[in-house]
Amino acid sequence: MSDSLWRAILRTNFRSLDALASYLKWDEELLSRVLKNPKFPLNIPKRLAEKIEQNSLDDPILRQFIPLNDELTAHKGFVLEPVDDQRFARSGSLLQKYSGRALLVSTGTCAMHCRYCFRQNFDYSVKSSKFEQELETLRNDPSINEIILSGGDPLSLSTRELSELLAAFSDIPHIDIIRFHTRFPIGIPERITPQFLALLSKQPKQIIFVIHTNHAKELDKQVLDSLKSLQKLGIPILNQTVLLKGINDSFEVLFNLSQTLITNGIIPYYLHKLDLVKGAAHFAVPTKVGLSLIQQLRDSLPGYAVPSFVQEIPGQSSKTAIN
Ligand SMILES: *Cc1c(COP(=O)(O)O)cnc(C)c1O
Ligand code: SF4
Repeated sequence: MSDSLWRAILRTNFRSLDALASYLKWDEELLSRVLKNPKFPLNIPKRLAEKIEQNSLDDPILRQFIPLNDELTAHKGFVLEPVDDQRFARSGSLLQKYSGRALLVSTGTCAMHCRYCFRQNFDYSVKSSKFEQELETLRNDPSINEIILSGGDPLSLSTRELSELLAAFSDIPHIDIIRFHTRFPIGIPERITPQFLALLSKQPKQIIFVIHTNHAKELDKQVLDSLKSLQKLGIPILNQTVLLKGINDSFEVLFNLSQTLITNGIIPYYLHKLDLVKGAAHFAVPTKVGLSLIQQLRDSLPGYAVPSFVQEIPGQSSKTAIN
């Protein structure tokens, strides 16, 4: 199946600091604040880089992807594995934390590297690309009616691999819903190929997409058009956002994001409090600031446009609402 185009675009991602620095015309002072050779490598799609303001570290897109020296400062409470995923492995790459739904870590690869990602230190040694063991667990557990394809980013898989996974899920009678968690179309909307759409359109189970955007600047026309082509198949799209200092910790930014999402039929789902992953302390926003932002959104938008403000606390029976 024709994955060659988006794969070619993926290969044009900025992975070298020097290349990005010269593309964005950074001066020496700016460059001195940037972390060279981070353990979680720089990776930013061309499309996103094109939207970044030159010679500034304040750009809300740049801040999501640029490794800063701030990452090296240790902060109490910020750890390698904040959400303790390994403890919730059901079998192989299948995690279950919550009733009725299980999450498959389908790949370790993403279209981009977000500096605040809680999975940046996750052991991604995916046991088998065919997921035999994980599928067996799903088949034998009728209490699971929803499978979440996560990662990494599941759209990093080839259309053929996705087609095999979807076929396997569809053969399990008690699976009703297949949910994709993806950020891929934000960086490379070309991933939503006619072949992928054709594959989704013939699925017997309900498909749901949850995308991840943090700022309206990420949502240009081509990105929105690619999402529209999913919606035309009857696939609902929800969005999750991480509340990030210097990126979206203002009423105006969150309001514009919600407004852009809903006018394109995308429902704001969660506003996540930052997971306390090592190296991400400079993104932390105090809970009371988050609560006040949510209240301001409620005061100015319809109820469906206001995301739930939540936090991941390992061991709880769901994401924990912050009130
Ligand atoms: C976040 C998460 C989910 C999804 O939770 P919802 O509230 O259903 O969106 C499912 N499984 C795991 C392991 C998760 O971390
Ligand atoms: S795309 Fe998602 S999984 Fe990948 S680095 Fe960003 S937040 Fe993490």
